[in-house]
Amino acid sequence: MIKTFPHATPSSAKPWRLTTIRSKKILASLLTSVSLLALIGCQPPEQTNQSPIGDTPNVDIGAWGNTEPSSFTLAAQQDVLEQLPLADQQDFKDANRGLIASLSPLKTASLRESETFVWDRPAYDFIKGDAPNSVNPSLWRQAKLNNINGLFEVTNGVYQLRGFDLSNMTLIRGQNGWIIVDPLTAKETAATAFQFAMQQFAARGDNEQRISAIIFTHSHIDHFGGVLGILSADDIQRLNIPVVAPQGFMEEATSENMIAGTAMSRRAVFMYGKNLPRNERGHVDSGLGKGPAFGEFSIVAPNTLVGKTVTELTLDGVNFQFQYTPESEAPAEFTFYLPQLKAFCGGEVVSRNMHNLYTLRGAKVRDALKWSGYIEEMRQLYDGADIYFASHHWPMWGHDRIQEFLKQQRDTYKYIHDQTVRLMNKGKTPGDIAEELQLPESLAQAFSSRGYYGTVKHNARAVYQGYLGWYDANPAHLDPLPNIERAKGYVALAGGADKLIAEARRAMDKGNYRWASELLNHLVFAQPDNALAKELLAANYDQLGYQAESGPWRDVYLTGALELRHGTPEKGINIATMKDMLLLTPIENFFDSMAVRLKAEDATDKDWRIRLHFTDLKETYLLWLENSVLHHARETNSESDVNATLNLTHPLFVSMLTGEAGLKDTLFSDDLSVDGSRIDLVRFFSLFEKPATSFAIVTPE
Ligand SMILES: [Zn+2]
Repeated sequence: MIKTFPHATPSSAKPWRLTTIRSKKILASLLTSVSLLALIGCQPPEQTNQSPIGDTPNVDIGAWGNTEPSSFTLAAQQDVLEQLPLADQQDFKDANRGLIASLSPLKTASLRESETFVWDRPAYDFIKGDAPNSVNPSLWRQAKLNNINGLFEVTNGVYQLRGFDLSNMTLIRGQNGWIIVDPLTAKETAATAFQFAMQQFAARGDNEQRISAIIFTHSHIDHFGGVLGILSADDIQRLNIPVVAPQGFMEEATSENMIAGTAMSRRAVFMYGKNLPRNERGHVDSGLGKGPAFGEFSIVAPNTLVGKTVTELTLDGVNFQFQYTPESEAPAEFTFYLPQLKAFCGGEVVSRNMHNLYTLRGAKVRDALKWSGYIEEMRQLYDGADIYFASHHWPMWGHDRIQEFLKQQRDTYKYIHDQTVRLMNKGKTPGDIAEELQLPESLAQAFSSRGYYGTVKHNARAVYQGYLGWYDANPAHLDPLPNIERAKGYVALAGGADKLIAEARRAMDKGNYRWASELLNHLVFAQPDNALAKELLAANYDQLGYQAESGPWRDVYLTGALELRHGTPEKGINIATMKDMLLLTPIENFFDSMAVRLKAEDATDKDWRIRLHFTDLKETYLLWLENSVLHHARETNSESDVNATLNLTHPLFVSMLTGEAGLKDTLFSDDLSVDGSRIDLVRFFSLFEKPATSFAIVTPE
């Protein structure tokens, strides 16, 4: 059964390239880095029957080119089986309780590209039975739970659609219609889920299809992006439908990822395993759910804001008590209690896994102490609750179980916070703390505190980062040489590539994949054409991925392996999928995102001034350069001198951003006119860099 680790040898295969969808338009390409979230739009490579391994006989590379689980990986999986109460069936009972019907096959086609599916639940049908050797058994268990899908009754009048997307849509029966909580990520998945529910209710004799209120629990896109898939913005206005959200929702929803969106999108390819096959050597789960739905995103502005605890509202005859929890899991968030039903919705402040204090796609770190404090507040506020449900995962029934769960969630974040700070104050560095810190058994044995999404290791680093930042105070780390130079130095020190590879192989033979990865990573950065180094590094990442309990860690390692074997994809997100959101994004945010793309080296001594006049909004903005920095300000009069004025509508401006209209088209369109020098205008916009929607991560370029 147990095999020793087979050494991989170099790939002879040509790297695949993802289809390039380049913007042809000048201005569009200048502006398309505006990316509101870290979700990506590229396709996995075609399956090929290439053998990247060459002629070494005893290597099984698997269908996708990755290696067999090693004996060390098997032993690690065995440890997990022995340490965790995997026979406990309570979560499976909860996840199946109240099932009304499942949709089969649950596949949702893309609105934009009818040949593709934004949601393909049958792709995960392979997740059943015992964990294969290539998947951590604890993650496998979570993946099985997240596979359970359908329309469920939570309690009388409260239903959930689970497994139609990364998140859950909750339906609460009001007097005159349905109160919808968190309409999923994409219009496509939201429409599929909502229609399925309506069919099921109709079959049970309830023909009510009206939507009487919308609730967004927080500002992350998997909780609002599908809203226009279930009703139109016009209907919301015409029928005066309450749209309830936490204070700060709109600002955060449209800007949280705006400035750094390009990098986040690319990094999210790794975190969510976007390009991995769905199989036991590929992506199995994100911990939080299967993964995000990459469809058409939308948003509507809320008309009812909740900004304090407790806020009481009656929506369509149902009483709600809100707890406002900003700067916790999301910058704008709330939870709520339904006193008539003794049920509460925890939003995403609590969930059935350890969440991220830092997310691997890259984001500002979250405040563990505040987060934990909200959970304690929630525990007290909702002490009357017999039912818990949330925007991810499955509900829980029973007062005592809920109280216990909330204490565990509270203490998972507080323990990581407190003990990290304790070690930090003893001079420990982030890496030391990540290595040393372990949850106490009382938390480690609770599945809802397991690191399926966040991990103790990277959350501990996040706490350190939040207080002390990137510098660990060791002068050797203050100004180290850049990666490639350092890599070359280490390869030379090792006595050359062959000796370094020999040492890496020795480490692999002992199952020390972390050390082998570090060695081989130096070699790949020093010699990016060294195929053997890349294949060996990929083989290390395979094993680290197989062993990971966290969905994102697994996806990060396996995507690293994929890109070492097949190259960097050429294209990232298709910005056009975000048009609905961009139309509601404050204009100033676009200028901020332009400023971070200024080619400063070309802007030296330039002092150009451009006026943008939005004819429909009747708003005017001045853009100007000073000290190689782009500034913007709203103008109340238009008296100052400028090189040129661009008169255009807001939708046209957004069309340019989404690549649907280019500068040339725009200049001759009736919607736009230019006063002053068109040449200056072109020269001005040419100072802004085309964003790289894809870039190398596991290789130097
Ligand atoms: Zn979410």
